[in-house]
Amino acid sequence: MDKGKNPQQYGIGFKEIWEIDEKNHTEGLVMHTAGWPLDNNTYGGSFMYHAENKQVFLGYVIGLDYQNPHLSPFDEFQRFKTHPDIKKIIEGGKRISYGARALIEGGIQSLPQMFMPGALLVGCDAGTLNMPKIKGSHTAMKSGMIAAETIYEHLTKNINLSTYEQKFKESWVYKELYEARNVKPSFSWGLILGILFTGIDQILFRGKLPFTLKHKHADHEALKPADKMPKIDYPKPDNVITFDKTSSVYLTGTIHDDNQPVHLKLKDLLFKNL
Ligand SMILES: Cc1cc2nc3c(=O)[nH]c(=O)nc-3n(C[C@H](O)[C@H](O)[C@H](O)COP(=O)(O)OP(=O)(O)OC[C@H]3O[C@@H](n4cnc5c(N)ncnc54)[C@H](O)[C@@H]3O)c2cc1C
Repeated sequence: MDKGKNPQQYGIGFKEIWEIDEKNHTEGLVMHTAGWPLDNNTYGGSFMYHAENKQVFLGYVIGLDYQNPHLSPFDEFQRFKTHPDIKKIIEGGKRISYGARALIEGGIQSLPQMFMPGALLVGCDAGTLNMPKIKGSHTAMKSGMIAAETIYEHLTKNINLSTYEQKFKESWVYKELYEARNVKPSFSWGLILGILFTGIDQILFRGKLPFTLKHKHADHEALKPADKMPKIDYPKPDNVITFDKTSSVYLTGTIHDDNQPVHLKLKDLLFKNL
């Protein structure tokens, strides 16, 4: 289904909800950053949304095409919160929720065929996220609405399910994703060139430049051997601003049985013994 498409690109995103001191809260304020604490060759950035009830939603997203196997996306997010401009907002506040999720970042260059006999791909299953905005709820919903219309016509008028893809391409979702398409691949040139290009592409040309950049390789192909890359010394969590994984997962609200069988099994014994 991905024949002729660019390799899919993935990211991992972390999000925490904090209740903060009223004096640090500006309802409606939206902040986005790129780079720090990542180096210039690693794609990632943050968001902070000041929501209602003295809450802020803050998070960090890292492309999985990073080079250094020692990099820990979770710990980079924790470190991000120690930046003075972030710390001063959440200091004195309380973390009330945590979550992590994969992001499908390839955009239209990597969008697979979205129909098959008896099924349609919608939302992030297909890859309808608007990557530069880190927004995918509205596009997922719209693709679901188009899918529902297609299924209805299929059942009542026997119209082929492949019309889903045509309708999707004619919708505002495709136009939006088309205009966002060059942002992610441009960051493969590094942070500075990526930012410069994205400014020209998005602000001056509004995503209408007459070419489409490609995703040249799958994420794992960017990884370099561990012994050739610098080790990263992550500081221990202070349990005030930064936390460990266990206390974070506790805040996800995930429910499972204590004796739930492990469903991820390593088949390759070479890796099992590492
Ligand atoms: C850190 C972060 C911040 C984000 N911020 C925003 C934002 O501010 N605004 C925005 O619009 N988007 C945001 N997004 C993107 C957004 O989360 C997704 O684009 C959106 O959720 C896609 O919707 P979906 O319905 O396709 O997939 P999902 O929301 O992932 O829904 C799929 C559901 O299927 C369930 N599921 C999976 N497998 C099975 C199974 N086998 N059986 C039953 N159920 C199953 C999953 O548990 C999940 O609930 C963010 C993403 C991240 C990671």
